[in-house]
Amino acid sequence: MIIAPRGTHDILPSESYRWHLIEDKIKEICLEFGYKEIRTPMFESTELFERGVGDTTDVVQKEMYTFLDKGGRSVTLRPEGTSPIVRSFVESSLYAQPQPTKLYYLYPCFRYEKPQAGRLREFHQFGVEVMGADTAAVDAEVISLAMQVFSRLNVTGIELNINSIGCPKCRSAYNEKLKAFFKPHLGELCETCRQRYEKNPLRILDCKVKSCKAIYNHAPVLLDNICEDCAAHFEQLKRYLEVMEIPYQIDATIVRGLDYYTKTVFEIISKNKGSEGTICGGGRYNGLIAEIGGPEMTGVGFAMGLERLLLVLESLDLIPENLERPDIFIANVGEQADLFVQKLVYGLRNAGISAERDYLSRSVKAQMKYANKTGAQFSAVIGDDDIAAKSASVKNMQTGETDNVPFDHLAEFIKTNTMTR
Ligand code: ATP
Ligand code: MG
Repeated sequence: MIIAPRGTHDILPSESYRWHLIEDKIKEICLEFGYKEIRTPMFESTELFERGVGDTTDVVQKEMYTFLDKGGRSVTLRPEGTSPIVRSFVESSLYAQPQPTKLYYLYPCFRYEKPQAGRLREFHQFGVEVMGADTAAVDAEVISLAMQVFSRLNVTGIELNINSIGCPKCRSAYNEKLKAFFKPHLGELCETCRQRYEKNPLRILDCKVKSCKAIYNHAPVLLDNICEDCAAHFEQLKRYLEVMEIPYQIDATIVRGLDYYTKTVFEIISKNKGSEGTICGGGRYNGLIAEIGGPEMTGVGFAMGLERLLLVLESLDLIPENLERPDIFIANVGEQADLFVQKLVYGLRNAGISAERDYLSRSVKAQMKYANKTGAQFSAVIGDDDIAAKSASVKNMQTGETDNVPFDHLAEFIKTNTMTR
C-alpha cells in the first residue's frame, strides 16, 4: 500500500467542511477589512527564501524542501508566504499603485520538520500583508484582523503578546551588546548558534535547544535597547490597541523565527489544553521589499497556522455539525419514476437546491436507509401515482412531518423550509 508522505495529511470529505467553515469566515473578515486575495506559485527560486527569510534562520538552514529541477535550477517549495508575496509585489509593480497594498493569502506551506500534533511538513497558512504604509495604525489593524478571526469563531483562552525588535540602527548597537554577553558562553552554545554568533547574534534568542535557552534567558533585553523612533512607534501601537479594546501583553522575549522583521513583532498563543502554543505570528518587515529588489517600502503582516487553529476549535468543542448535506433525497419506485427522478433532481439542482437520488437501483427501504445516512433534511418517494398527480409527499426527516407539495413548488418549498439557508 502506498501511504501519504510523512508529515502530510489528507483532508477527507468528512472534515473538509471544517476547512470551508474557517476559510469562509476568514474571507468574510478580509473583505470587511479591505484585504484582497493574492495567490503565488507553490515553489520559488531558492534564492528568494535565502534572501527573504534569512540564511541564519531555522527555516532556511534546516526546514526547506529544496531540489534541482530538470533544468538544473534550484527551487524550493514555499516554507512561508511573505517572501513570495513581496517578490510578486515587486515583480508586478504593485508598489506603483495607490498605497497601501492590503493582501491576504490562504495556502499550503512546506517545512521539513519532525511531525507531531500541530507540526506538519505540509501545513496551511492564512496570512495578510500590508505594504506601503509605515504607521503603527497599520500594525494595529493587522493585529486586530488576526484577533477578529478568533473572536468570530468564539475562541477563548488566547493571548496576544507584542514586542518591538527595533530597526537595523538600534539593533546593530544591541548586537554588539549581545555578542559581549555571549562571548564567555560560546563553548556552551549549540553548533548552529556559534555560527549565528558571528553572523546574526539576535537569532540565538530564537534557538529551541535547551542549553542555549538556559543561557540566553539572562541576555540583555532588546526592548530596553531600542531607539527613540522605534519606542515611539511601539507606544503608538499600544494606544491603537487600547482604543480598539484589544487586550495585549508585552513579551520582550519574542524575536520571531524569520530575519526580516523590524519594530513590531507579535504572537497569538493558545492556552487551551490540547492546543497550547503559537497559532499566529507576525510583525513589521521594513527592509524586506528593498532586499528583494523593490523600492524602499515598508510592510507588516502575520501568518496563522490553520491546522493549529482547528486544533484550538476542537479542544474548545467549537466545531459545529456538518451542514454540508442534501436538502432533499428523492427515492424512486419503478422504471418510469427512475427517469422522472433523474429529471426532477437535475431541475432542483438547477434551482439551487442540493438534491440527491439513488444510483444503485436499491429497494425503497434501502434507498430510505441511505437517505438517512446522507443527513438529508427532506425526503420523498416518487412512484407512478405521484407522477400522475404531479405532486409528492415530502417528509421532514427530523420531525417526521409530511406535506403534499406539487412538483412545480418543490424548489420553493425546500428553500423556505430548510434550516441552513
Ligand atoms: P514554531 O515556533 O511553532 O515552529 P514558527 O515561528 O516556525 O512556529 P511561523 O514561521 O511564524 O512559525 O509561522 C506562522 C504560523 O504557522 C505558526 O504560528 C504556526 O501556527 C504555523 N506553523 C508553522 N510551522 C508549522 C508546521 N510545521 N506545521 C503546522 N503549522 C505550522
Ligand atoms: Mg518553526
